Order: sequence, then C-alpha cells, then structure tokens
Amino acid sequence: MAEKFLILGAGAAGINAAAAIKEIKPDSDVTIAFAEDHAYSRMATPYYLTSVASKISLYQSNEKKLSNLDVLLMPNYKAISIDRRKKVVMFANRKLLNYDKLLIATGSSSILPDSWKGIDNLVSLWDLKNVEKFKNDLADINKIAIIGSGFIGMIFADSLLKLGKSVTIIEKMPYIIPGMLPITASQIMKNYMQKKGVDVIVDDSVDSIEPSEHKIKIKTASGKNIVVNKAVAAIGIKPNIDFLEGSGVKTDNGIFVDENMRTNDDSIYAAGDAAIGQVVYSQKRAIHPIWPTAVDHGSIAGYNMAGIIRKYRGSLLYNILVLGNLQCASFGNWNDPDAKIFEWRSSDNRQFLRFTVRSNRLVGASIIGNHDRIGMIKGMVEQAMAIDDISSFVKNIPDFTIPFMNYNYLTNSAYQS
Ligand SMILES: Cc1cc2nc3c(=O)[nH]c(=O)nc-3n(C[C@H](O)[C@H](O)[C@H](O)COP(=O)(O)OP(=O)(O)OC[C@H]3O[C@@H](n4cnc5c(N)ncnc54)[C@H](O)[C@@H]3O)c2cc1C
Repeated sequence: MAEKFLILGAGAAGINAAAAIKEIKPDSDVTIAFAEDHAYSRMATPYYLTSVASKISLYQSNEKKLSNLDVLLMPNYKAISIDRRKKVVMFANRKLLNYDKLLIATGSSSILPDSWKGIDNLVSLWDLKNVEKFKNDLADINKIAIIGSGFIGMIFADSLLKLGKSVTIIEKMPYIIPGMLPITASQIMKNYMQKKGVDVIVDDSVDSIEPSEHKIKIKTASGKNIVVNKAVAAIGIKPNIDFLEGSGVKTDNGIFVDENMRTNDDSIYAAGDAAIGQVVYSQKRAIHPIWPTAVDHGSIAGYNMAGIIRKYRGSLLYNILVLGNLQCASFGNWNDPDAKIFEWRSSDNRQFLRFTVRSNRLVGASIIGNHDRIGMIKGMVEQAMAIDDISSFVKNIPDFTIPFMNYNYLTNSAYQS
C-alpha cells in the first residue's frame, strides 16, 4: 500500500510540503485536511478587501496546483486531537484520518482577550471569512479603530485609508510599528500616517470596549473615549496548536522541531507559523511567522517526510510594509541590544537606515526608503556581510554614495537597551 502522508493546514507550509513530497514520491497518497473552506493565500486578503484581487484569485491557483499534483484537499477538517499510538487524527466534524507521516502546518490566529470575545463590531482580520464579512459591512460605515500598530494592524489601516475610511490607531507602546522600527524611524511613519488623516494614539491602551447600536465605544487607559463603527483587533498572534494538548508532541507556544523539521515523534513534522524552527546564523530557535519561512519550512519538511534528508539552514526574520507610497522594512536582529547600532536619516525626513553590527558582521537592519534599496539591504543581512569600517562600507554600497551625502548621521554609539 502507498505510504500515507497527512498534512494539517493548507497554507504556504502545507502546500509546499505537499509539492515536495509529490516531487520525490509522485505516487504517494498525500492528503491536506484543513479548518477553512479554501487553500487561500492569507497575505493577499488586504488586496481582496480593497478589491484589487477577487476572492477566487486568492485560492484558485493553489487549488489547481494541488489538484494537478493529485493531492487530496479536505476543507472544513479542523483537527481537535491526535492519537500518536494509533497514528490517527480526530477532527471537529467527527471524522478520523490515519497517517504514516503527519505534518502539522496549522499556522496561527489573532490573539483575542477573553473579555473581547463575542463583542459585536469588534473583529480580527486574520481569516478570509472575517475579511469577507467585514468587507460586506464596510459600505455603510465610516469610522474604524485599529487596536495594535504591528504589521497586520498597519496593513489594514492602509487598506481602509485607500477605501476612504476614517481610521484611528491605538498603540500601547510609545511609538507605532514597534516590532519593525526603532522610535527614530517610527516617527517618520507616524507623521506620514497623520498627514494622510489617520488619528494615531500611542502610549495608551484599551481599558474597556462596549458595543452600542451599530457602534462600539472604546475607553482607553488615559481616559479617552473613542466611538467608532467597527474596531479591528490586531494585538498579536498565537500558533494553532491547542489540539496537541496531551498528545505528547513537545510544544511551548509553538512546536519544537529539529533541523529536519521533525518533532519529538519520528512520524510527525511541523512547519510554518506553528513551528519553532532554526534561526539563521545562530543556535537559537524561534517562530518566524512570515510567508517565506512557511514556504521554506514546508519544503524542507516535505523532502524529509519523503525520505530525502534536507537540513534547514534557518530563517531570517524580515518584514516589508508598504503604507501609501512609503515603504519600511526590518531584517534579522535589527534591535539586538548587545550590538553596535548605526543610524542615518535623510534631510527630507523620508528615508531612514539602521545597521546592527555584531562581531563586525551585519546582523540586522531597519529601513524606510525605496524598494530597490530594501532588496539590497535584505541580501546584505542574509549574507551577514563582514564590516570592518562602517563608513567605507556605506560609501561602497552601490547606489548609496550620493544619497548618503544627504543623510544625517544620527548615532554610532553602542546602544544598551
Ligand atoms: C493580512 C495578512 C497579511 C500578511 N502579509 C504578509 C506579508 O506581506 N509577508 C509575509 O511574509 N507574511 C505575511 N503574513 C503572514 C503569512 O501569511 C503567514 O506567515 C503564513 O501564511 C504562514 O503560513 P502557514 O502555512 O504556517 O499558515 P497559514 O497560511 O495560516 O495556514 C494555516 C492552515 O491551517 C489550517 N488550520 C488551522 N487550524 C487547524 C486545525 N486545527 N486543523 C486543521 N487545519 C487547521 C488553516 O485553515 C490553514 O489552511 C500576513 C498575514 C496576514 C493575516
């Protein structure tokens, strides 16, 4: 009988694992069972919200590719537990599926505090279903609050601005986009969003949320009362691994995997947002909840599951955020407290660059600027470029020499935070 590969999750990790298994073992029995209706691309949902992409375009090519590979897709199969001894997964629809090799690629979900659950007009936009409902409701409303100014909150703030909505951002840290930018750079993005008409509230948190007819009232810790039609919760994410409780698969707010993406059970692998994987150029392991990491994890897991031994070199955490016509990005350990930090800001206050250097190697960067430059900096951090002299290093970056003459050098001190 053909070996049975069962994959939980039809996101980037699950799909790439299925493709890798089929590449090595075309005749194998590969099934993807997943909780939602379609195998869609999660990061494209903001484009669907603004109608740049249709709903069907979010999943059509994925589902066609999997069908061509003869991978069986089972939507609306939400795993609720695993019996490792019997090699069986139980699902919320009361069905059971068995496996020879299992991949857990169940991704993550928005964090929603218990006291926020069930509040009308308070939504998280992590899933296509929620985005679709939100989109259908948008025509009749104008004022929206985004709680949390991380990557996801800012993407949706930008989408709502494009739709002509009135947006308030509430951030508990003293500055916005704190997971990607230092305060110096964050100020540039804040000014930009304010000029676009966004009400940006920082250093304040949500104290209470009360629904009232077709509206929602938010009271902040500093005593502000904000009344909007809808609020979007974007305060962080957590891996979808509750169903592993009691299974014996080793977890700690994520699933532990080795360099082959294998868990502590030889027949079970994990990948993507749910997996605590190897970090590049380090002994550390971490969850890097980004698309490219899910793709790499999935492929490596798939090859290993199919019997081809591949070691994962580790992921580089990076985020690229486009707000209107201003782009910002962060790569690697841009906020390493023990590294030397070098920062520049352009005199027109539209561009910013931070290099984080440790043992004469570039280990991280944050940048506000044009796309080409962002791509180049990513490559330099990926290679952990050796830097002996920062000023000659910067002068020698192609395309940087002239622009950098206009940059104000902010600091060359070794920050200790
Ligand atoms: C709005 C938005 C924009 C983003 N933009 C970017 C970006 O620009 N760049 C970037 O790098 N990253 C971006 N991301 C993050 C990126 O989408 C994720 O890192 C990536 O999707 C993770 O892939 P994954 O396969 O691990 O999980 P997912 O893509 O989340 O897929 C998880 C799968 O598991 C299924 N599932 C969940 N629970 C269960 C269960 N119990 N049983 C069975 N199946 C289950 C789900 O139905 C789904 O099919 C964005 C995310 C969002 C929400």
